[in-house]
Amino acid sequence: DPYLIPGSGTTCLDAAVMNVFEPGQRVVVAQTGFFGTRWEQIARAHDLEVVDVEVPVGEPVDPSRVADASKGAHGVLTVHVETATGVRHPIEEITRAAQDQGAVCVIDGIASVGGELCDVDGMDLDVVVTGAQKGLEAPPGLGILALGSRARERVEARSTRPRSFYLDLKTWDRYRDEWGAWHPHPVTMPTNSVLALASSMRRILEAGLETW
Ligand SMILES: *Cc1c(COP(=O)(O)O)cnc(C)c1O
Repeated sequence: DPYLIPGSGTTCLDAAVMNVFEPGQRVVVAQTGFFGTRWEQIARAHDLEVVDVEVPVGEPVDPSRVADASKGAHGVLTVHVETATGVRHPIEEITRAAQDQGAVCVIDGIASVGGELCDVDGMDLDVVVTGAQKGLEAPPGLGILALGSRARERVEARSTRPRSFYLDLKTWDRYRDEWGAWHPHPVTMPTNSVLALASSMRRILEAGLETW
């Protein structure tokens, strides 16, 4: 049951970090390239402590290095397909490595979702972020954020609220729960973008996920 938040994919990268973690917590960042670096910038913007895992250019993230680095960390931030290099990183193995250390894994799937299988429930992923305009082939304008059960627990258990009204997922939950019948979102949705995304999703599902 993903959140659709008007903005770009990066809106939901910000939302994921600020809702799942609290200032001062430690996260491991897989330095996959340009968008790995963006993860680090976002983590620092939200006052998280960052531990880098270096990734040689052109190679996939090594899950055992993530496991070593995540001891005592709250989270792991990785890119699924790194746009800068075209490398697809092993998100299931990285997620298991994080989960084994008690960390949750947040995946930037902006360049992958629609082009690569990224099944939040089937792969038991923690957090996946994407946008409308890449593999989903819709116009830009919507960020998409999905939470698995562990990440949902983190959001529920946090002791402080994120310092944003717009990107606090509880704001979105509250409108869905209390205003659902006529106004399930806290802001005006770009209905043109939502309808275009729905049309794109129908086209993908009609072709079948594997074929697509
Ligand atoms: C394009 C891209 C982004 C940025 O997405 P916006 O929708 O422009 O915010 C982030 N991560 C990856 C991997 C991308 O390809």
